[in-house]
Amino acid sequence: MIDAEELAARLAAVQGRIARAAARAGRDVGSVSLLAVTKTWPAEVVRAAYDLGLRDFGENYAGELADKAEALLHLEGLRWHFIGHLQRNKARSVAAVAAEVQSVDSVRLAEALGARAAEQGRTLGAWVQVNVGGEAQKSGCSPDEAAAVASAVASQPALRLAGLMTVPPHTDDPAGAAPYFAALVALRETLGGAARLPGLSMGMTHDLEVAVAAGATVVRVGSALFGVRAATA
Ligand SMILES: *Cc1c(COP(=O)(O)O)cnc(C)c1O
Repeated sequence: MIDAEELAARLAAVQGRIARAAARAGRDVGSVSLLAVTKTWPAEVVRAAYDLGLRDFGENYAGELADKAEALLHLEGLRWHFIGHLQRNKARSVAAVAAEVQSVDSVRLAEALGARAAEQGRTLGAWVQVNVGGEAQKSGCSPDEAAAVASAVASQPALRLAGLMTVPPHTDDPAGAAPYFAALVALRETLGGAARLPGLSMGMTHDLEVAVAAGATVVRVGSALFGVRAATA
């Protein structure tokens, strides 16, 4: 497991990458936030990142999120963001602890999440995940479905429509992601623009510079901070 000194160095490196990409794009570095993706890493790793000042953490699995949220309940200001594929029968446990769910990809999931959040007296930020590359194995709605999913989110009083999220197809050259990020930006324009969908969550370890250049407001970074994950089932 990563030690605190190594983590501090990696965090500085990632923050430097974001700052340089923002500067090249003529953007304010404060317009891009870093979501630290902690899937597969134990609660102590989240704690170490929190101690370095990080507050926003991304998790992909409902059970793992519930366990870590419970273990770290005492950490003031920590915000959990759910970024994995979410089954409706897990909506209750995610709605109990998450501040944001970035992976809303169907009308039925928006309805379930809104209902489960309302029951628990919580309001969640909800992002529409769009599969801009049309890859069969990836979650996310198709661009054609995004309007309906966004409307379903907007009609839930316990959900706040926060933006669009995507995971582009992998290309060895990070620049290969640019057309997919541009497609998400263009889709946002057709859905009401930044006034309705303020956030654009795109860019990971491999391609965050390309995403910042394209207008990302959130980059989701795991391995550049915490190391390479063991393969998960
Ligand atoms: C795992 C994951 C990330 C982080 O990926 P890295 O390449 O490790 O930075 C970002 N977004 C989603 C949706 C993920 O599942």
